[in-house]
Amino acid sequence: MALVQLGEGRETSGKRYSTVPRFEFDHSNLSFSTGAADMTQLLERAIALQKANDDLAEANERLHGIPDWMAELHEEHSVQKKEIDSLSEQAEAEAQARREAETEIEEIQEKLHRYQTQINQVTTQREYGALLQEIDTAKGRVTELEELGITCMERREVALQELEEKKAAFSDLDQRYGTELAKWEAKKPSVARKVKSLTKAIEKLREEIPRQHLSLYDRIAKRHGGSALAPIRELQSNRKGPRSWHCSGCNFNVRPQVVVGASAGDQLLHCDSCKRILFLEETEEEA
Ligand SMILES: [Zn+2]
Repeated sequence: MALVQLGEGRETSGKRYSTVPRFEFDHSNLSFSTGAADMTQLLERAIALQKANDDLAEANERLHGIPDWMAELHEEHSVQKKEIDSLSEQAEAEAQARREAETEIEEIQEKLHRYQTQINQVTTQREYGALLQEIDTAKGRVTELEELGITCMERREVALQELEEKKAAFSDLDQRYGTELAKWEAKKPSVARKVKSLTKAIEKLREEIPRQHLSLYDRIAKRHGGSALAPIRELQSNRKGPRSWHCSGCNFNVRPQVVVGASAGDQLLHCDSCKRILFLEETEEEA
């Protein structure tokens, strides 16, 4: 198979490719025939590989991200959901604080009960005084805890009321979100299947493309974020003047000889600027 070299400013040596400077077809280490049919097939496979890689990237992005049509709704939904969750947590924290205060009150009440029994058994004035002091401190703490309990209850009420309002306002959005999410979830398995079948197709195509061409493809793709091929586009601006073409990857001018070569489809031709492999798309709109 012919090896296409990507040397900068390389001059061609073969007569057959004299219209395509910079690229040299190295015939020195051919592993099998480099007939036009082979080259056409190679180009077709490279195009198929590029298409499969593009589709795979798109499918993966779809599978692991929030689809575009849901992005805005998703953002709005998350913000409101967060506010609701936080209010709910706040109400729960107040309830918890109140429960703790009540538990402590119960414990102190039991202690006070014991003090009442003890007060009948004390024999000295000093013991009596000390016990009264204990009773006073305990009662003071009960008052404190009761006040805290009331404050917690009030704060909980406020949080709950705000929560109810927020929930009411949220319900419509939540429903819409649920519907869209269900739609998206229903689509996911088919996207996942697509990822699987594309991965398989890519594996197969890569096996079918000779190694040196595959590594060339990978090198160019790596340089251009996964894009190794670019269709040639005709510039439509000056219909009266001479026809002109450009590389759809980088917009660089494509020489007419290259277009002629590409239309034969039996050679690998590269953009002079970005080095992407050029090809002509089949168009249906030609009159
Ligand atoms: Zn280009």
